[in-house]
Amino acid sequence: MLILGLQKTTLLDFPGKVASTIFTGGCNFKCPYCHNSELVIPPPDVIKYSEEEIFEHLYKKKKILDGVCITGGEPTLHKDLPEFIKKIKDLGLLVKLDSNGTNPKMLEYLIDNNLVDYIAMDIKNSKEKYNEIACMPQFDIAPIEESVSLLLKNKVDYEFRTTIMKECHDSTDILSMGEWLTGAKAYYLQSYKESPQVINPIFSPHSMETLNSFVELLKPFIPNTNLRGID
Ligand code: SF4
Repeated sequence: MLILGLQKTTLLDFPGKVASTIFTGGCNFKCPYCHNSELVIPPPDVIKYSEEEIFEHLYKKKKILDGVCITGGEPTLHKDLPEFIKKIKDLGLLVKLDSNGTNPKMLEYLIDNNLVDYIAMDIKNSKEKYNEIACMPQFDIAPIEESVSLLLKNKVDYEFRTTIMKECHDSTDILSMGEWLTGAKAYYLQSYKESPQVINPIFSPHSMETLNSFVELLKPFIPNTNLRGID
């Protein structure tokens, strides 16, 4: 595992839990709005964490932690993710995984082997406009569709989430995503926020009024749709 960050304690990353967050390096997407550019495109002098350092921390704090959030980058790019998670589960901790959904086989393996307790999957946009955000040289929506279908089977607790940008999302896209995700357990819309860390600052946020109207558009498809992280 390429581990490039550790937040020792968070009340925000794992819903309802006290957690540590582990940041893995590398991603197969290059979303311009990504706040983790140093994880997606690591600089040559990036500081890496050894697994020993991570487990030393988790072992020390396991009594006060409920779980661990594994985020990125894209954690499922790392083939040894299941073994890494198994060691976390052996400490009696819950595991939440953040993913862009490009590796449905890995998600399925983790679910079927009880290695993950919660999955948060990004939905970038409607299928037609997906790669305007993902920015992959060659893009295939099929694995993303497979991951969505997998989560909709409700074999594990999960949420879908979308970062909303004025330049990318209009009501037609929102309705298209609503149809696609119909019956989902939970869907969160987050507003784009510019920061010095974003990969490419080409986007801007929608107004609060528009964000609320998007939530109303989605509720007939996914009643548990909410805004998240809006100040
Ligand atoms: S937002 Fe997520 S999927 Fe997109 S580049 Fe960043 S880590 Fe990768």
